[in-house]
Amino acid sequence: MPEIPELEAIRAFLNAHIVGRQIESAETRIPPVFRTPAKELRETLPGDTFGTVLRHGKFLLFGLASERVLAINPMLTGRFQYLEPKTKLHAKTCLVIAIEGGMHLRYVDERLMGKVYLVPLRNLAMIPNWSTNGPDLLDPALTEDAWLAALKRYRGQIKSILTNAEFVQGIGNAYSDEILWEAQINPYTSRPKLTEEEQRTLYQAAHRVMEWATPLVAGAMVKGDTLDYEERRDFMRVHRLGGKPCPRCGATITEITANQRITSFCRTCQPEK
Ligand SMILES: [Zn+2]
Repeated sequence: MPEIPELEAIRAFLNAHIVGRQIESAETRIPPVFRTPAKELRETLPGDTFGTVLRHGKFLLFGLASERVLAINPMLTGRFQYLEPKTKLHAKTCLVIAIEGGMHLRYVDERLMGKVYLVPLRNLAMIPNWSTNGPDLLDPALTEDAWLAALKRYRGQIKSILTNAEFVQGIGNAYSDEILWEAQINPYTSRPKLTEEEQRTLYQAAHRVMEWATPLVAGAMVKGDTLDYEERRDFMRVHRLGGKPCPRCGATITEITANQRITSFCRTCQPEK
């Protein structure tokens, strides 16, 4: 599942390649992902021009000269490609945008759970949960003090809070494990048991992990002037590494699966409280 590092890497690549370029055609191939009628995309995207690509939580936001936004949340299996048109089409390609200059921007989604919207810039709040969700982790307004204040409202297990979009957006299952390992906090600790110091450490760890991971995932996706989303997680230090030694202390990493979610952590570095 793409989280902040993957989406930031894609965003940086696309900002260097599509800004200011006109859309020649938009082909909508597999309907369930389109939350704006596919016809509207096909008919109104051609002739429009890409502006800056932004990210909000797990959404990539493609600004358009028409003051609209193509907003895509790839959910579990969505991925973005920027390729030569002759490149073989993946069977689950949902959207193909032909861009001036001869390249294709494609959205592929194996399980078709992603969501594609085309909305006026001033109406982003039309997107379900847009206004009820919390800030993006990298939003400058989410200072360490704002993080502390927001955390006070939650009393559950800290991993569930980190992956709850109502608290903060952009963190999923994989990076929440990495952040908790970095902060040396047990994922099952209930929030009120954490000291203020630990809650501050968590904020810093979340930012360090994103900074560390983004260039690593970019390396796996970008090849010259093309981008093909490939999930690279081989650099992780704890997530899905159950049974392997912890890179910090050497103890064996624990892995627990519950509700179809894998949680990996080190019982030595991240003791129960
Ligand atoms: Zn350890």
